[in-house]
Amino acid sequence: MKTIGLLGGMSWQSTAHYYRIINEEVARRLGGLHSAQIVMSSLDFDVMEKLQQTGRWQEAGEWLAEEAVRLGRAGADFVLICANTMHKVADQVQQTSGIPVLHIADAVAEVIKKQGIGRVGLLGTRYTMEEDFYRARLVDMHGLEVIIPGDEDREMINRVIYEELCRGIVRNESRGDYLDTMRKLEKAGAGGIILGCTEIEIIVSPADFHLPMFPTTFIHSVAAVDKALSEV
Ligand code: GLU
Repeated sequence: MKTIGLLGGMSWQSTAHYYRIINEEVARRLGGLHSAQIVMSSLDFDVMEKLQQTGRWQEAGEWLAEEAVRLGRAGADFVLICANTMHKVADQVQQTSGIPVLHIADAVAEVIKKQGIGRVGLLGTRYTMEEDFYRARLVDMHGLEVIIPGDEDREMINRVIYEELCRGIVRNESRGDYLDTMRKLEKAGAGGIILGCTEIEIIVSPADFHLPMFPTTFIHSVAAVDKALSEV
């Protein structure tokens, strides 16, 4: 079994889920007392979030690359950036550290394509919804059509992530707002919804909505197990 490196703490609320899902999946597949081989670096998210807000992505990428090198020294064969947003610097992290990064958007796109869905709605931070680093990868590399919520809904989705979910606060009212946004994306033609922020699974589960949902923490974790247990 390969060793999985987790670049976590972004936020720790979802990293805790990564740790659980990966171990549960290894136990399910291998049985007995098997569990995953994991090394983790968990960052102080307050510091990282300030780098994001002030546009210091280069620095953020350097920091993650340094942590990836440390994970490599600790035995990681590949790393997961445990957040969608920080994939903005995924190429930088991989190139600078020399450690393979298992890209979250590739993992989610493979699952979407297997279900034969061509047009998906995307929820996430404002960076993930509005910028190109994530959407363009889904469109150009995977041939998907991606639609995002309108201005006010994007503002709400982003605010709930940073002010509530990353702090472990789960409010029914916010769940309702998220579901309303999903209904609008469905009306706009979405055949499924990407929960493109690793904390969204804390507040919305596939049972809450009738369209297929693509929870990125779960999908990324399972892809990590596939890779850890594969021969190549
Ligand atoms: N975990 C988040 C994501 O998946 C948001 C927090 C962050 O800005 O990294 O995008």
